[in-house]
Amino acid sequence: METYGFPDDKVLFAGLVNGKNIWRSDYAIKLKLLTRIRKKAEKVVLSTSCSLLHVPYTVGNENQLPDDVKGHLAFACEKLGELAELAALADNTDFADTEEFQANQELIAHNAIRTDEEVQERVKALSEKDFHRKERRTDRQMLQRKALAQKLLPTTTIGSFPQIEDVKRNRFRFKKGEITKAEYDEKIKGFIRECVRFQDEIGLVVLVHGEFERNDMVEYFGENLSGFVFTQNGWVQSYGTRGVKPPIVFGDIKRERDFTVAYISYANSLTEKDVKGMLTGPVTILNWSFPREDISLKECMYQIALALQDEVLALEQAGVRIIQIDEAALREKLPLRKEDWYSEYLDDAILAFRLTSSKVRSETQIHTHMCYSEFEEIIPAIDAMDADVITFEASRSQLTILDSLKENHFETEVGPGVYDIHSPRVPGVEEIKETLDLMLHKLPAENLWVNPDCGLKTRGPQETGQSLKNMVQAAKEIREKL
Ligand code: GLN
Ligand code: ZN
Repeated sequence: METYGFPDDKVLFAGLVNGKNIWRSDYAIKLKLLTRIRKKAEKVVLSTSCSLLHVPYTVGNENQLPDDVKGHLAFACEKLGELAELAALADNTDFADTEEFQANQELIAHNAIRTDEEVQERVKALSEKDFHRKERRTDRQMLQRKALAQKLLPTTTIGSFPQIEDVKRNRFRFKKGEITKAEYDEKIKGFIRECVRFQDEIGLVVLVHGEFERNDMVEYFGENLSGFVFTQNGWVQSYGTRGVKPPIVFGDIKRERDFTVAYISYANSLTEKDVKGMLTGPVTILNWSFPREDISLKECMYQIALALQDEVLALEQAGVRIIQIDEAALREKLPLRKEDWYSEYLDDAILAFRLTSSKVRSETQIHTHMCYSEFEEIIPAIDAMDADVITFEASRSQLTILDSLKENHFETEVGPGVYDIHSPRVPGVEEIKETLDLMLHKLPAENLWVNPDCGLKTRGPQETGQSLKNMVQAAKEIREKL
């Protein structure tokens, strides 16, 4: 606009207030910007930069956040308040003397972010070697096959098992303070026992603990890492009618204690088989939170990655030999235009993932899982994450992705979902066998895993049980033919 001007007969809706973040605006910056806009455009209406769908309704409903935190937040209602104040200030030549302006500037000058030097130093000290595992993937895969004695076409699931009423009630009652931590844990252990017993009984190869302590992929992690704050009512739309309450990054991020080891170890103690350690990756944790703006996304991702690295090593130390690090939302912050995709963001995201798993032994098998995102276009980047195994959503995309994997000489072992978990329909044995046959046409058998598309938490126990039995049976029949 500064170069080309703006037509006199048009009204400019200037998106002055950021509609996507949850931070207070710096009025000095906004007013300067507005002056520049007004030099070029005659008729200006002040607006937010986008619809307010991405932010919660109001900070006014929050009564558990510390005041100095709350002061820095602006949700939808507060953003409208800012627009009104900015409009008034813009028409006032003495705006600098107003109470509104001075209060805003004082707030901006007082940074309430909880910083932690140790965390910052650790990120600064990172060097090339921190992003690499000791051995090349193909060598590791050989070592892992030996160490883990996995048969061809290993069967597994993505992590969560059906969140039946009892599971949700347990979390709810604990949050409300109706039961003690010990009572809560006893219940969780009961769910884990039943889950492991079932998986063992039907003959799955790699088991999971079932994620009964988690309601989504991010909240549990936010709660166990310092540097996040949580709203009570900060709901935003996720998709369709689903809502989420994203954590807010309000400091440097650090792991305070082991937080997945106890449940996974318990599950592991119940079976001869391997139970996967189950973590959400740094990119997904950040992409599903409200990020800070005083440091880069990259720095924040690295902080989370280092915190997770400690948890990964604690799991390994506890005898967990397979660890899955989910990155469901890896693609979410990719720029809109395809030509910008191989951007810094993607490079940083990949490096952050690698950082979480770079320090494990070569025999430890690192899995990742991805969904909500077609990744056909970024296959080389996915391979560069250097995981040993990736499971992903495939049943709805006609398996075209498998051709691209082949073309790109994809090294990571793959578990393209053999059935769609978004539907209650139970896939038959024959149907799954056909799918596996198709996959085996395109992929070497040593590289193929057998699993559903995604976690099972939204499904009922009945259909889940039957579907998994059919899946195990199909894998068994195909394996015998190989
Ligand atoms: N491990 C998670 C689960 O099974 C993964 C969820 C996801 O990818 N959306 O629920
Ligand atoms: Zn998934």
